Amino acid sequence: MLKGKTALVTGSTSGIGLGIAKALAAQGANIVLNGFGDVNGPKAEIAALGVKVAYHGADMSKPAEIEDMMKFAATQFGQVDILVNNAGIQHVAKIENFPVEKWDAVIAINLSSAFHATRLALPAMQAANKGKGWGRIINVASVHGLVASAEKSAYVAAKHGIVGLTKVTALENATTGVTCNAICPGWVLTPLVQKQVDARAAAAGISDDAAKQQLLGEKEPSLQFTTPEELGALAVFFCSPAGNNVRGVAWNMDGGWTAQ
Ligand code: NAD
Repeated sequence: MLKGKTALVTGSTSGIGLGIAKALAAQGANIVLNGFGDVNGPKAEIAALGVKVAYHGADMSKPAEIEDMMKFAATQFGQVDILVNNAGIQHVAKIENFPVEKWDAVIAINLSSAFHATRLALPAMQAANKGKGWGRIINVASVHGLVASAEKSAYVAAKHGIVGLTKVTALENATTGVTCNAICPGWVLTPLVQKQVDARAAAAGISDDAAKQQLLGEKEPSLQFTTPEELGALAVFFCSPAGNNVRGVAWNMDGGWTAQ
């Protein structure tokens, strides 16, 4: 379905970003990966799906590096048709103890990076399809874009912000073939969440399994983690013809978290 299209997924060396990159690659899209840590493993996983894959190591807290990444993607594959703004970090502390540099980093990586990548991707998307426009911008927000939790001030502010950015991007392009939507996962068992499980297990002196059950039990009625594969399938839907008029939604996949 996405043969000949190019998808750039930020923060795709791990977790949800890698899951979405694999789902888009399975539909035939060429992939530009980004993120830190092991690159060869994710690159090989994508290449095994029979598409072209490139990698750019932009630090998403740095606008000049994001500009370089967008130019690189256009040079490699012509243009970016699908942009998935996914890179994100977490820091947990009460507001009065929240380190200022952590606040700045969370806002830069989880929110401002999406603004920069979006502003740089839009002109080519708007010009595509003989000027009628074609493009898909998918922002990985969170249930924390819709509701709050204590001790996550920067994260909740950034995620509420990216839901707002999603709506504005969708409205400004509503008469074109460029859509923008957000995905709002509940708990997904990635390295970002495993750190919170580890902290809980250490603080309460309980096992890894017991800490996971506690984490789910507090917020997620299904008592199940959402998987990167399930989120990848939702991203594929947004890119499909059936997603043509889905604009500006914040779609939760959260085991009932925000239904309460
Ligand atoms: P993860 O830690 O597995 O992956 C984060 C990715 O972002 C990695 O590839 C990492 O290298 C990259 N990254 C971090 N800082 C970066 C930077 N400065 N520049 C470039 N890349 C950077 O985490 P994840 O759980 O897969 O999170 C991905 C997204 O999903 C985040 O936006 C997160 O807020 C969101 N999310 C996660 C959950 C969850 O439960 N795991 C729930 C809701 C939303």
